Amino acid sequence: MEKKQFQAESKRLLEMMINSIYTQKEVFLRELISNASDAIDKIYYKALTDDSLSFNQDDYYIKVEADKENRTLKITDTGIGMTKEELENNLGVIAKSGSLAFKAENEIKDGHDIIGQFGVGFYAAFMVADVVTVISKALGQEEAYKWESEGADGYTIVPAEKAEVGTEIILKIKENTEDESYDEYLEEYRLKSIIKKYSDFIRYPIKMNVTKSRKKEGSENEYEDYTEEEIINSMVPIWRKNKSELTDEDYEQFYHEKRYGFDKPLKHIHISVDGTIRYQAILYIPENIPFDYYSREFEKGLELYSNGVLIMDKCADLLPDYFSFVKGMVDSEDLSLNISREMLQHDRQLKLIAKNINKKIKSELQGLLKNEREKYEKFYQSFGRQLKFGVYNEFGAHKETLQDLLMFYSSKEKKLVTLDEYISRMPEEQKYIYYATGESNERIEKLPQTELVSDKGFEILYFTEDIDEFAIKMLMTYKEKEFKSVSSGDLGIEESEQDTEAKDEENKELFDAMKNLLGDKVKDVRISKRLKSHPVCLTADGEVTIEMEKILNAMPD
Ligand code: ADP
Ligand code: MG
Repeated sequence: MEKKQFQAESKRLLEMMINSIYTQKEVFLRELISNASDAIDKIYYKALTDDSLSFNQDDYYIKVEADKENRTLKITDTGIGMTKEELENNLGVIAKSGSLAFKAENEIKDGHDIIGQFGVGFYAAFMVADVVTVISKALGQEEAYKWESEGADGYTIVPAEKAEVGTEIILKIKENTEDESYDEYLEEYRLKSIIKKYSDFIRYPIKMNVTKSRKKEGSENEYEDYTEEEIINSMVPIWRKNKSELTDEDYEQFYHEKRYGFDKPLKHIHISVDGTIRYQAILYIPENIPFDYYSREFEKGLELYSNGVLIMDKCADLLPDYFSFVKGMVDSEDLSLNISREMLQHDRQLKLIAKNINKKIKSELQGLLKNEREKYEKFYQSFGRQLKFGVYNEFGAHKETLQDLLMFYSSKEKKLVTLDEYISRMPEEQKYIYYATGESNERIEKLPQTELVSDKGFEILYFTEDIDEFAIKMLMTYKEKEFKSVSSGDLGIEESEQDTEAKDEENKELFDAMKNLLGDKVKDVRISKRLKSHPVCLTADGEVTIEMEKILNAMPD
């Protein structure tokens, strides 16, 4: 039997492939299943133009079988199969993709269902196997062939027996080493979970014999194991379904299945875009703050699928930090992936999608605010802080996006109000948006500084979180109205200047004595225009209010 050599470049490539392209060994199964799905797709495409072929969905499947005793894992498909030449060309030449060629030859422009394109995925099998055997019978051929390889050494091709058209790939799973376990790739539960993770939305059934337990016949408490063939994958991704076919419960179930969170999501957003870039997404706004949200471990991001196959668990580039609480997934047919399919080649498409998604989240939140106030307030209790940080961070680059989503407690309404609502209630003579800072609403209510503003009938926003005033300073204005702290020097409220000046004169001696006594602690002592029932209050000098000064002083240098 003649042993053919891989081409020299191929040898090096193969070494590289096996050792460094993929970060996780488990993706070998994703690659083999994707190939099997492509092979079935090819029959489907052929049948579209060839009347002698019919495509009956039920005849097509992929099967995964583990044999622990012999340490083999077999992946069978009922796809188009490979001729001797195809085995040689597609599996003997690394980086040659028969699938890419197929798309070109058959002028399948919309062939975005076919996954393969790089011609390397197959070799991922060598990450977990010492020997890979491929037995294949091509559509329309009498003979079957067996391709076998132990890796970089080369491969053999010999005639073989196979009744049905299709391909069987048999992996001889490596023995465990000191630091690497391979046994897991023969374990039913492990294989199931890998299939679920990466290949849940392959359009053809992926079958496995699954061990189950049942009561022994005629026995009360004795059980026996038996195996049953099961379909592991869900096949039709929920995001490809029509919104009108889906209920709130369906979305909720998906949220929990995917472990996006344990709560009941406040809102789901189902997006389906068919423009210059095609993508579908299902996004969720959780109700509760995830337990690790404010910890270092928290990673923002959405799941990213390329044409139904998971390629990234948490794609951070899809979400800005201020929307980091959003959970969900994006699937696109138009991503250009790099060779390991773990990263993207160009992020232009991704940027477009991210921008799109960002807009959508904002408008959904605005909709919630407008139409489902209670829900929005719930959301705001959980994630309002994140929005305020978003306004403050990056020198206010996102303030336009976020300012309409902010809410603060109002002295007048005794509840959270938006800036827009505040402005709409402002009397003609009111120049500023007033705010007061303090530990709690109750504390602020008692501040002497609020009196004059309240007496004027002006509304005051209560800032009880550290970030509030920083965020507002970044906004500077809202709809051309400046923000003004009730404890700042000039409140812009007109009082008779003469009055206070005269009083200042009258009391000059007293004030001088007080200033002497307090020394450096104060800059000035003067008659206040704002006090009604309180005898005295402290006023900040300049733009930094007393609350901000406290926070700034507490920060490490
Ligand atoms: P890609 O899928 O990116 O083309 P692979 O290395 O995964 O690259 O596979 C190389 C080629 O081998 C495929 O393009 C296809 O032509 C062929 N091939 C692999 N697996 C199968 C299979 N199960 N059935 C038919 N052809 C296959
Ligand atoms: Mg492939």
